[in-house]
Amino acid sequence: MELRKDPITRSWVVVGHRERPPVAAEPCPLCPGQESLSKTVFVLPETGEWQVRVIPHFDPLYRIESEAARQAEGIYDRMLPLGAHEILIETREHHLRTSQMPDEAIERILDAYAHRIRDLKLDLRFKYVTVFKNCGPLAGEEWSHSHSQITATTFVPRRILYELRAARDYFQQKERCVFCDILRQEERQGKRLVDTEGEYLAFCPYASRVPYEVWLIGRKHNHQFETPRPGARRRDLAALLGRTLRRLGQVAADYHLVVHTAPNTQHTKAELSDYWKTLAEDYHWHIEILPIVEQRSKSYSIKEVYFNALPPEQAAERLRQIDPGAV
Ligand SMILES: [Zn+2]
Ligand SMILES: [Zn+2]
Ligand SMILES: [Zn+2]
Repeated sequence: MELRKDPITRSWVVVGHRERPPVAAEPCPLCPGQESLSKTVFVLPETGEWQVRVIPHFDPLYRIESEAARQAEGIYDRMLPLGAHEILIETREHHLRTSQMPDEAIERILDAYAHRIRDLKLDLRFKYVTVFKNCGPLAGEEWSHSHSQITATTFVPRRILYELRAARDYFQQKERCVFCDILRQEERQGKRLVDTEGEYLAFCPYASRVPYEVWLIGRKHNHQFETPRPGARRRDLAALLGRTLRRLGQVAADYHLVVHTAPNTQHTKAELSDYWKTLAEDYHWHIEILPIVEQRSKSYSIKEVYFNALPPEQAAERLRQIDPGAV
């Protein structure tokens, strides 16, 4: 496998076959009792029976042991897929979905996300750490046992790069964080708001790409998900995420979830630290949830324009009406 850069859009594409023979799906390799299949990268709690366990991916897209060394091929750029690819097992219970977990269990998962992001950012070769979750067969989940995935890459993924540049440009013009401005307007108008808990809110973004797209964000400015502000209560975020997933479960069983946080600013390239010098003020972490309610419209694949038949104002109203219940 190798990474190739599109010289026009500047996005990196992993090209090639995955290399390892697949791990047997039966018995479930993520269940307790199967620990010998993989080494343990991280567990919570630190003592006693694990409740959240992070392991290297059985067939990783990115590998720690390879070298990133970029090579030119005429006008093109390529590199080996240096990085990390991990599976975060969210629970010991095979059939328990994230939406069915109590707040404290969801909080433990969010804590594990933060731990892994912080730890992987200590490797200065990695420019970005992505935490995501594909839930359900339509989302392309690899195992039905609740899990998230973590990748660390030597490049910043394209969508994040767009967000970073746009946030920096907005800040240069207005000296304000665009995400703070968005959430203040959403709170004031209320029509796309889904739910709030403590200092966190869930809303359908103005230009939702798919029906029932929901973002979770904190009211208080912070660019790094992994470093909570003093006094921030991650339990509130966990409660809001649980309720949001239960609401979404009534309209779409499957979804993608991704945490968007700031890139790794600790690496040594001086030009980049200058490039991102207002990052802490201009970027704002958030969680994006993209439910899958219909096959993606053909117009997307051909023209790369999203077509979403459900206005986010209607989506938010419907989601507000759904009783998220209790676990
Ligand atoms: Zn299992
Ligand atoms: Zn902000
Ligand atoms: Zn985002």
